[in-house]
Amino acid sequence: MIDLRSDTVTKPTPGMRTAMAQAEVGDDVYGEDPTVNALEAMAARILKKEAALLVPTGVMANQLCIRLHTRPGDEIIAEQTAHVIRYEGGSASALSQVQVCCVEGERGLLSAERVAAAIRPLDVHHPPTTLLCLEQTHNVGGGSVYPLSAMRELAGLAAARGLASHLDGARIFNAAVATGVPAAAFAAPFDTVSFCLSKGLGAPVGSMIVSTRERIAALRRLRKMFGGGMRQAGILAAAGLYALERHVERLRDDHDNAKQFALQLQQIPTVYVDPDRVETNIVLFEVVRSDRSTGDLARAMKDAGVLLNAVGEHRFRAVTHLDVSSADVDLAARRIGTVLGM
Ligand SMILES: *Cc1c(COP(=O)(O)O)cnc(C)c1O
Repeated sequence: MIDLRSDTVTKPTPGMRTAMAQAEVGDDVYGEDPTVNALEAMAARILKKEAALLVPTGVMANQLCIRLHTRPGDEIIAEQTAHVIRYEGGSASALSQVQVCCVEGERGLLSAERVAAAIRPLDVHHPPTTLLCLEQTHNVGGGSVYPLSAMRELAGLAAARGLASHLDGARIFNAAVATGVPAAAFAAPFDTVSFCLSKGLGAPVGSMIVSTRERIAALRRLRKMFGGGMRQAGILAAAGLYALERHVERLRDDHDNAKQFALQLQQIPTVYVDPDRVETNIVLFEVVRSDRSTGDLARAMKDAGVLLNAVGEHRFRAVTHLDVSSADVDLAARRIGTVLGM
């Protein structure tokens, strides 16, 4: 089975498992886990921020930051298909009691004009707009990458209008590898930045938040409140350290495989895909001129040995990752061709 549903499906490599088994541990709620402390120091160093915090999931990372930057009744701005809106179970409203102003982007990427128009003027009728959330790379946008200039413009606009800024950088290292811009440069204009260890980087569990020392101290308290204070978490942190040391540069392979996959899908007459839009490790494609339902097609592909996510009417998402080789994507494209009668 070739699993292209998500880069979250990666399993720890033998080397990573060894690092986990050998990790020195302590009680991280007391700040005494040396491996967690080492991971937090490394994340802060790479992203050039003062401090970092290990949290169990990317959702918790985003939601802790939303909680930090807002008060109940505030409004936050996010792109309408952003992860914080679509895939976090309504937690911004449930846990921080904020409402979300959804702004339409182009492949998930917001423009300064649209964001500026969405910031509400101070008025007793309005919820105060207090936070701008961006996503790099943009998941639903197909792994699209904000250019550095756009990130600076948007975060600068937020700061000038008195909003805090948070970057959901779940795949920030994919953006860095794809553009050659250091992840720290993308992170620089934001008040808080989160990223996932458990996606393309291949760790089994974990996300990081980076920010100032003061904000990280406040987030550490909120993490406990949200139930995310972990004890001998060094076993997980060892996987994160291993991933940051060895699995960042290889994201390039995932991007090459995604591009190759798109070029092969393009050969199938009933597939529409634009390989030029494959910037990182996510491929969006559509099956055209088919009277079979999306679910039916996904099941047929599964029966043929390819797992994909259906993301809309005849629309599919494939994600390349550590556990998928270039030969695997060739085979997956051939199997999909067979299912589609080619
Ligand atoms: C995966 C992802 C997250 C975090 O998800 P978890 O499953 O909670 O780790 C956050 N933002 C984006 C854009 C993601 O793709």
